[in-house]
Amino acid sequence: MKPVADCVIHHLAAAALFPRPYRGKGTPVGWEVEERPHVSIAARAGTIVWIGPAGQLSDEVTLAADCRFVNGAGRLAVPGFVDSHTHLVYAGDRSDEFEMRVQGRPYLDILAAGGGILRTVEAVRARSEEELFDEAAARLIEALAWGTTTIEIKTGYGLDLPTELKMLRVIDRLRRELPVRIVATFMGAHAVPADRRADPDAFVDEICRDWIPEVAKTGLAAFNDVFTENKAFSVAQSRKILEAGLAHGLRPKIHADEINVLGGVDLAVEIGAVSADHLLMTGPAGIARLAGSGVIPTVLPGTSTYLMEAHHAPARAMIAAGLPLAIASDHNPGSCQFLGAGLVQTLAMLQLRLTAAEALIAGTLHAAHALGQGDRLGALEVGRQLDAVLLEATSIRQIGYRAGQNLVRQVIIGGQPVFQA
Ligand SMILES: [Zn+2]
Repeated sequence: MKPVADCVIHHLAAAALFPRPYRGKGTPVGWEVEERPHVSIAARAGTIVWIGPAGQLSDEVTLAADCRFVNGAGRLAVPGFVDSHTHLVYAGDRSDEFEMRVQGRPYLDILAAGGGILRTVEAVRARSEEELFDEAAARLIEALAWGTTTIEIKTGYGLDLPTELKMLRVIDRLRRELPVRIVATFMGAHAVPADRRADPDAFVDEICRDWIPEVAKTGLAAFNDVFTENKAFSVAQSRKILEAGLAHGLRPKIHADEINVLGGVDLAVEIGAVSADHLLMTGPAGIARLAGSGVIPTVLPGTSTYLMEAHHAPARAMIAAGLPLAIASDHNPGSCQFLGAGLVQTLAMLQLRLTAAEALIAGTLHAAHALGQGDRLGALEVGRQLDAVLLEATSIRQIGYRAGQNLVRQVIIGGQPVFQA
C-alpha cells in the first residue's frame, strides 16, 4: 500500500542521508553521508513516510487532501541539529571575565573579583521566572535560527531546591511556548555552593534525600547530571547522586574528564549513563572503557576553544576506536558562549579534525542518541520525525567551511515549517 502524506518537501537540490546510521549499543557506527540529488521527502503526522526521486512522488505516495508543500527552493536538506548539552537558562553577563581571561588574568583573580559560576547562581536566584524565560527564549530563537531542532537544557544555577525547581519550570515553559524540542536535565550537583563548602557530603545527602524526589515528582526532568571533578563532586559522591536519580527514574549523564581524569568515565560505564560529556583529558584507557558500552561520548569543542585550551578532546582516537562520538555546544555564561550549530560544526572540524560528514553525524544522529532519542530523531530516514534544515549550500562541506556564516534558510520540526530566514 502507498504511504499517505500530509507534508512534502520538494524542489530540493539534495538531501543528506545517512546510509548506515548507528542504532544503539552493540550496533556498528557508520560515518558516511550520501548527498542524494533531487529527492522529495514526504511525512504524515510529523513522521517521515517516504524519501525518493522527486519525479516518483505522485506514483508512490498518496497525498492527503490538505497536504502541505514546503518549497525546498534548490536548497540542501540536512537533519535538524541536536544540541545535547547546554546550560541555556541563566542570567547575568560575564563578558568582563571573558576579557580578563583573554588578558591572561588567573582564574583566582576572576573569582576574587566576584566572578565564576557562583556569580551566575546569585543572578539566577535573584531573577523572576518571567525574566529568566525572556532571556532564555531569545537564546533559543537564536539557536533555532542556526538550525537546532532539539536542545537539552540543564539546571544547576540554583544550587538550592527552590531555584532548581524554578529553572525546571522555565525550561518547561520554553518547551510549551517555542517550537524547538526541549529535553530537561536536573543538575543540582553542578557546584558546591559557597555556604556548603564546610560539609559537601551533607550537601550531597540533601540532593539525594530531598531534591531528587521533589524533582522527580514534577515530571519535568528526563536526566540527572553531575560535575565529577576536583573541587566539585568526587566519583563516590557522583555515584551516590546518579544512583539516587536512577531510583527516581532520572537517567544519568556525567561531566567527566574535563580537567582531571578521576574515574568519571568508569562510573558512566558502570552505571549505564546515557552520555559522558567533555572528555577533554580522556586517554586510551577511557576510550577502551567506552568502546561498546552504549555510553555516548559527547565532546564540546566550543568550550576548549573558549577557554583557550592548548588541547582538545581526542575525537579522532574515539572515532578510530569505533565510538559513536557526539558533539554539542555546551552554551553557558562562563566557559562557552558558542551557540549556533554551524559554528560548532566549524569548531569540530578545526579543533577536533573531524571530516564534514563526521561533524554532521556527530551533531545530529549521535547527539540524538545522547538524549536517548536516537531511534526517532537525528536523521532523514523513513520512520523518524521530519526535523530538517534547508541550507543555502551546495554540499555538507560548506557547513563547517563557511565559518560563522549562517546558511540556514528554513527549519522544519515534526513536518511543520517553524522558521524562515
Ligand atoms: Zn556542561
